[in-house]
Amino acid sequence: MPESHALRRERLQPAIVASGADAALITTLVNVRYLTGLASSNAALLVPADGPPVLATDSRYVLAAERDCPDVELLNVRPVETALAELAAARGLGRLAFEAQEMTVERHAALATTEGLAALVPLGHAVEQLRVVKDEAELALLARACEITGQAFDQTVTRIRAGMTERELAVLVERAMVDAGAEKPAFDTIVASGTNGAIPHHAPGSRCLEEGDMITIDCGARYAGYHADMTRTVMLGEPAAWQRDLYDLVATAQRAGIDAAVPGAAAAGVDAAARDIIAAAGHGGHFGHGLGHGVGLEIHEAPQLGVAKPGTLGDRVPLTVEPGVYLPGLGGVRIEDTLVVRSGAGLAASRDLLTTTQTVTPGELLVLEP
Ligand code: ZN
Ligand code: ZN
Repeated sequence: MPESHALRRERLQPAIVASGADAALITTLVNVRYLTGLASSNAALLVPADGPPVLATDSRYVLAAERDCPDVELLNVRPVETALAELAAARGLGRLAFEAQEMTVERHAALATTEGLAALVPLGHAVEQLRVVKDEAELALLARACEITGQAFDQTVTRIRAGMTERELAVLVERAMVDAGAEKPAFDTIVASGTNGAIPHHAPGSRCLEEGDMITIDCGARYAGYHADMTRTVMLGEPAAWQRDLYDLVATAQRAGIDAAVPGAAAAGVDAAARDIIAAAGHGGHFGHGLGHGVGLEIHEAPQLGVAKPGTLGDRVPLTVEPGVYLPGLGGVRIEDTLVVRSGAGLAASRDLLTTTQTVTPGELLVLEP
């Protein structure tokens, strides 16, 4: 998609002008990927406020760069940042904007010694801001990542048995995602069973699943660089009354959060739509994290849904909605979907739910035979 990458670079140029720089040195690898299509472990991109860009990468990625970014001038060099800073100075681009959120003090000091460089100024999160609103090509890749995730979950959930360890279940999910077409898991799969369910980001361990456990599975596939994110909590054996009540509460809160996630809604307001329901049930103190986050080339990206989080939702913004209630010593429930906020007529048309599962309807607790 070289045309869409060129368009993205064009959309960045006003931010470079606004920073007072002659050019931007993009060093966040995922931002380099967003602006060029090159996925690598060593690359940087020089984007002049006016004029064509230069991509620097080393010999390990040169052929990939020639294939994926045929429209960009290429520099084959290992020290990508200093080489581009020198090139910028040589081309009269003396004021260079840099990504302070990613730059280390040590690397900044090295850049600052570049001969002919007049100033290093922070670019801010300009590229991250561009990445919030996805184009249709990105949304198609994200939708595929989510589809793979749902399929893999459905295949795995029927195999859950008492005696299986959390780690075994996590590996089954990850294997099923790769078999269904994922390039890899989007993040380390979470399987939190029984009392471990009270730990939102529990690392799956050697605990064996038992009858009476609620099991929270948080998983996602990565596809062409795009990250899916989905959580389901299921029941192994018949639920106790408190387990059913907790599940129903979180499911109701999730529905309210999804319904509130429309273009123009305040990020804090969407969070509140779900959080207020949990708080009203007396569990406000048991829901410590934000309601959700943007997803795309990173698993966690802007915007964030949370208490006092700024901003409003735009059109074509993928988000997760993931309320949870965590009860120390007892267990927990989290339900998470990835959806796309879209403008359209009416509430129903205003979002696409990307993570769907045949085995679990989020409004209904799935009870598995132990
Ligand atoms: Zn998740
Ligand atoms: Zn998430």
